[in-house]
Amino acid sequence: MTTIPFGKPMVGEEERRAVAEVLEGTTLTHGPRVKAFEQAFAEFTGAPHAIATATCMASLHLAYLACGIGPGDEVLVPAQTHVAMAHAVEICGATPVFVDADPRTGNVDLDLLAAAVTERTRAVSVVHYLGLPVDMGRVLEVARRHDLFVVEDCAIALGARIDGTHVGLHGDVGCFSFYPVKHITTGEGGMVITTRADIADRVSKQRAFGIDKSVLADRRHTAAYEIEYVGLNYRMGEIGAAMGVEQLKRLPGFLEQRARNFRSLAAGLGGVDGLTVIDSDGPGASHYCLVALLDAPLAERREELIETLKGEGVGTSVYYPKPLPDTKYYRETYGHPERSCPVAARISYESIAFPVGPHIEEEDVQRIVETVGQVVDRLVARA
Ligand SMILES: *Cc1c(COP(=O)(O)O)cnc(C)c1O
Repeated sequence: MTTIPFGKPMVGEEERRAVAEVLEGTTLTHGPRVKAFEQAFAEFTGAPHAIATATCMASLHLAYLACGIGPGDEVLVPAQTHVAMAHAVEICGATPVFVDADPRTGNVDLDLLAAAVTERTRAVSVVHYLGLPVDMGRVLEVARRHDLFVVEDCAIALGARIDGTHVGLHGDVGCFSFYPVKHITTGEGGMVITTRADIADRVSKQRAFGIDKSVLADRRHTAAYEIEYVGLNYRMGEIGAAMGVEQLKRLPGFLEQRARNFRSLAAGLGGVDGLTVIDSDGPGASHYCLVALLDAPLAERREELIETLKGEGVGTSVYYPKPLPDTKYYRETYGHPERSCPVAARISYESIAFPVGPHIEEEDVQRIVETVGQVVDRLVARA
């Protein structure tokens, strides 16, 4: 029996040839591929500025640094997201303030977001959970009223748009991931996009040791430069960028396949008693995966369900395994009580994520639906 994996990088002949070309040359970093990838990404998203980075975590760190986030500041962070966002705030010396999710979509609850603003709040962050765009109009309203920066985590939302404008361009800065199971991959990799020239300038300098090469460009020593900021080395290399250029060409096809798979899987799993599919198929969505909430009595038996499905060749995942305030570090550092964000807790502890990526076809979708139906029947019968 073959296994349907949750995620699988779509690396083909084009990517292999592009990487081989890099290896045949002598330029492994500071080369033309990173620039080409940034330019192609800017074209695809419509961003005036796109800066390639090492990872999404690196992108988020650079984004908060560019917004000047530091000690004493509070930053609103969704409880239902990847820990990278909270860590990026924490590394800047600021405090992540967690906001619970909307039970219908899993995106941040916008009423709670507005209510969480204090005198110390400097920025609001959102994640376009499962590729469904957050209502950015309402986020921007809150941000304008309190003069806050807006950071968008688009790690699982590449291709998602609101009224035609790509996610990441509604707030001040948007961050992307090219980790192997995301919409496209460069092995490890990330991108920052922004409409703001000042943020783009600071991100691109702090990405590379804070160096400003333009300052001394008129001097005779071509290697001379000035250090304008404290910085990091968060650059992307030529090998990753070469993959990224090829992956981006295939992205429109990937997105179509994801939408088809999502709709077919949602229709199928919608007919299974005990499952409630989270509604992440709104306008402009980019279908990262499908998350199904388990109703009682299945909810308490999630691990058994996941293990049984795995045994039957259906790979699944959990997005995300713990609400951030429930994780050991944030619980102990800030004294959050267990399940302080009950909606995020329900999603984290009582849901299963199913694949919809371009590595699966309609026959795989049908196999997932049939297998889930049978396994759920068996578990419920034994309950
Ligand atoms: C995967 C993911 C990240 C982390 O991305 P890396 O490129 O691995 O650093 C950040 N945020 C979200 C929402 C993610 O899903």
